[in-house]
Amino acid sequence: MGYYYGYGYGLDGTYALVLIGVILCLLASAKVKATVARFSRVYSASGMTGAMAAERMLQEAGIMDVTIRHVGGSLTDHYDPRTKTVNLSDDVYNSRSVAAVGIACHECGHAIQDATAYFPLTFRHSLVPVANFGSSISWPLILFGVLAGGMRTSGGMGYLLIQVGIFCFSLAVLFQLVTLPVEFNASHRAMQMITHTGMLTTEESHMTRKVLSAAALTYVAGAASAILQLLRLLIIFGGGRRDD
Ligand SMILES: [Zn+2]
Repeated sequence: MGYYYGYGYGLDGTYALVLIGVILCLLASAKVKATVARFSRVYSASGMTGAMAAERMLQEAGIMDVTIRHVGGSLTDHYDPRTKTVNLSDDVYNSRSVAAVGIACHECGHAIQDATAYFPLTFRHSLVPVANFGSSISWPLILFGVLAGGMRTSGGMGYLLIQVGIFCFSLAVLFQLVTLPVEFNASHRAMQMITHTGMLTTEESHMTRKVLSAAALTYVAGAASAILQLLRLLIIFGGGRRDD
């Protein structure tokens, strides 16, 4: 039995891959918090609040069926396609900062994606149940596979469980990857609208771009971390057997 320990329990050398992922996520999260905090103190010359900017953007895009809502918390801003609402947090809704305008317009970018059936968004939606199921079932499957002796032979039930477990994990990784074009595109739409409508001055929009780039970095770190974890699984279980 001692044979199993160190494999699949996070005690082997490949665990460094998981640690790198965790560190990347922590760095990205710290970066976005610092950037948002910095540009939440820079107020736009136009005096537009996040809510006003969102209203303007939806109007410009000809979207009439989306409501802008004020929600509690910090960095809780999101677009909800089920209720067709742009939800803006305390720090964004009433704030006249360049960060607030950027975040509000980014969420409206998602509303426009939804209204125009932007493919990466609809694909990402269809992946939600699959990715949730995959990420919750993958580790139990791998664990049972290891306990069933799946690492000793490249056939049999244990081996099959491990392979199915890795496949389920990769569905969750795919979800993280599909999130990237969705997020980049929403920020792109936000910056285009800000420039087009002149909501912010050129100098202000440079600061807004920094906020949105920092936010995008958290999704890149999340995807990189997921890929590193998948890579680790492939290194550990890839061959399906060991020679000793
Ligand atoms: Zn987003």
